[in-house]
Amino acid sequence: MIETKISYSWDRDVHRVGTLHTPRRLGPAALVFLGPPGAGKGTHAQHIANEYSLPRISTGDVFRSHVARKTALGLQSAEIMSRGLLVPDDVVCEMLREHICSLGCSSCLVLDGFPRSVYQANWLDCFLRTRSGNNHELLHNAPLAIQISVEHDEVMRRLSGRRSCPSCGRSYNLDSQPPVNSGICDYDETKLVMRPDDSESVIRERLMVHDENALALAESYRSRGRLLQIDGNTTVDAVRNAIGIQLESHFIF
Ligand code: AMP
Repeated sequence: MIETKISYSWDRDVHRVGTLHTPRRLGPAALVFLGPPGAGKGTHAQHIANEYSLPRISTGDVFRSHVARKTALGLQSAEIMSRGLLVPDDVVCEMLREHICSLGCSSCLVLDGFPRSVYQANWLDCFLRTRSGNNHELLHNAPLAIQISVEHDEVMRRLSGRRSCPSCGRSYNLDSQPPVNSGICDYDETKLVMRPDDSESVIRERLMVHDENALALAESYRSRGRLLQIDGNTTVDAVRNAIGIQLESHFIF
């Protein structure tokens, strides 16, 4: 097996050595982002997907799209989502399986919002092994979890200021990342909206649901040495760099 390691800087302003388009020889079959709502999973998953040219899947976005299109899955999930609860494991896994298969690619997946339970984590392991023809039992191919931890008070503060574009899905924050023109998406000028599940009572429910599953889920990755822990209470740039530094050693080009 050929291993050509490149050095890579996560700071956009620093000259980058090597190229991200070098074929990937080894690495996790998926990067999964764990953490409470508002931890920045979506922001950092998107960043990594862009940097590595990897497909990113947000299960929350996929569900919201089903709800907006009033598909059978959307109608089944809408009420659960509006209450801040989790869609049943088997429904999420089947939806994700179909979504991944429809992408028709075999590169490392960046998953935002999945898994949210040990059941889902086990399902993902099994699915990825099957997808790679069962020959990827090696540890470096197992999914790698990036857990972003954020205090509850900070989550409440962030989510109450979160606004998103219903058209392109971009996220803003009234405090830390406001749009250039108040209330309007910078990219397509659509009027920004607050997610219905970002109301205070639903955020509390979502935090409780997260906390119920978080320890066991993180442990399922930590026990295999597949958990990267990041303090998410700082700035977006600081978190981005911390992820970059920890992640670098797990990709061998
Ligand atoms: P998110 O955008 O990741 O906060 O997800 C929004 C909502 O979609 C969640 O509160 C759940 O109701 C549902 N959802 C998203 N991902 C999952 C998942 N992996 N398991 C169960 N429900 C999910």
